[in-house]
Amino acid sequence: MGTQLIQRGMQTGECGMRWNAERPDDIKTVHQAYRSAGCRLITTNSFGGSRSMLERHGLGGKVAEWNRQAAELASEIAGPEGWVLGDVGPFGDFLEPMGDTTAEELEAIFREQITALVEGGADAILVETMSDPGELCAGIRAARAVTDLPVIATYAFQKSAGTFRTLMGTKVAEAIAAAYAAGAAIAGANCGTDLSLADYLELAKEIVAAAGGRATILQPNAGVPHQVDGEIRYDATPEEMAELARALRTLGISIVGGCCGTSPAHLAAMAQV
Ligand SMILES: [Zn+2]
Repeated sequence: MGTQLIQRGMQTGECGMRWNAERPDDIKTVHQAYRSAGCRLITTNSFGGSRSMLERHGLGGKVAEWNRQAAELASEIAGPEGWVLGDVGPFGDFLEPMGDTTAEELEAIFREQITALVEGGADAILVETMSDPGELCAGIRAARAVTDLPVIATYAFQKSAGTFRTLMGTKVAEAIAAAYAAGAAIAGANCGTDLSLADYLELAKEIVAAAGGRATILQPNAGVPHQVDGEIRYDATPEEMAELARALRTLGISIVGGCCGTSPAHLAAMAQV
């Protein structure tokens, strides 16, 4: 969604949540493009929809309205066969002791957002791109508190000295175990920092091993980003992503998707296999 909104003119630092209210047809066009590509799960435009994120733009009062609209727009396009994942991204700060926010305060922030996503028709809650297991688990607990819908939880990993860790330093096995323990139905990874397609295969093995037979998810980027004329570009082709998708399924990943740089063409090729 982020990649697609940037292509449609979203500026750096702009509040993407605003588009749910002001450019709903653009949001629906993006959803339709992925649905038509064969995606059975589509993700609401609500990554930055928590009160703490919206307050950066002075728009904290819009949490309920814009998250509900985000879910409604996706629901209009998903159809009876499709699933709407109500998207919850990072709250934009650190939990105590690195930051000022307590786990209880963070759970309240997430409950407010998730309640609105459920009201708008989400079929599951996706807590994604998390670096801190404490934050991810607060998101899961918040979802469990307000709905019986399944919760999908994903981390952004990076590779340092040959080992996958979150930005906070947590390794895959520990991070994934924490997600299931907090009540996630499905756990895994999305996005990540400078991971190659080969890295995602290695990461998939660790996730499947950590899951111990439970359902897993992996949403890779379209390769390692690089800058061209001030723009961030992802170069993996649809064919390369299709090959990766097939390999991820073979390794036992339950749900395969795409994150940064994965256009409808990429997802169409992935859905084919
Ligand atoms: Zn991403």
